[in-house]
Amino acid sequence: MQVVKTISQFRQLRQPVTGSVGFVPTMGYLHKGHLSLVRQARAENSTVVASIFVNPTQFAPAEDFRSYPRDFDRDLALLGKEKTDIVFAPSEEEMYPATFSTWVDVEKVTERLEGACRPGHFRGVATVVTKLFNIVQPTRAYFGQKDAQQALVIKRIVADLNMNTEIVVIPTVRESDGLAMSSRNTYLNPKERQAATVLFKALSLARRLRQDSEKDAEEIRQQMASLILKEPLAQIEYVSIADAETLEELKIIDRQALALLAVRIGKTRLIDNMLLD
Ligand code: AMP
Repeated sequence: MQVVKTISQFRQLRQPVTGSVGFVPTMGYLHKGHLSLVRQARAENSTVVASIFVNPTQFAPAEDFRSYPRDFDRDLALLGKEKTDIVFAPSEEEMYPATFSTWVDVEKVTERLEGACRPGHFRGVATVVTKLFNIVQPTRAYFGQKDAQQALVIKRIVADLNMNTEIVVIPTVRESDGLAMSSRNTYLNPKERQAATVLFKALSLARRLRQDSEKDAEEIRQQMASLILKEPLAQIEYVSIADAETLEELKIIDRQALALLAVRIGKTRLIDNMLLD
């Protein structure tokens, strides 16, 4: 495995590669969710590239950029075990030199949910992913369903900007009690960790109601919200039953629907989602 920190070093390694390149962009502090992306990339490509970059531009000033967990050596060991070929781990200055002034702005699909709660977030995500794709030039890039809206934003960029990369979305990897794996779970104390299972419980309730033929989206949202409100440590940011393709809020479930949640457990903001059919 080769570890490079500059764009020019990366390009030197990339240039002679002729077979398919599978790319897994991450912010590090890797867990089994990330590693399932790497495993799928390994199975489908002759060269596997992972990036580790905590992207400052996708964090609002009051968010957790500074405290975001980091453990570079452990990440490298985990990526090595998964037979990653190249790790690209640039510095902030490498990605955003002082002259930097070009941004990628995606409309519509970014306007609700995470986009509404975290102004500027998707501009940062869209810009860094576009830059990483231009550097890595992947045949396929792997993203988690855990960040459902992000995956839709990336698919929009690739289609709209005619990028020659296939986007592969991988199912959410969960702990045994259903909590979606996330680098941010490390912020939770034991009581909060227990309380955090309420997200999966609410999503499972939504799926059960849907399987019992409930078509009224508002009824499902209300039942999810009242279940979450029973957990004293939980504060709802949004509960959504949306069109799985456009993320438009649904009144009647007459197509593929996604239940999406953002909930604060204490100070920690968690998101999760589940397909209802
Ligand atoms: P991050 O390091 O949080 O930016 O995540 C990097 C990639 O891993 C993104 O495509 C995430 O959607 C994906 N990911 C994060 N958590 C999970 C999970 N529990 N299961 C599957 N993929 C995940």
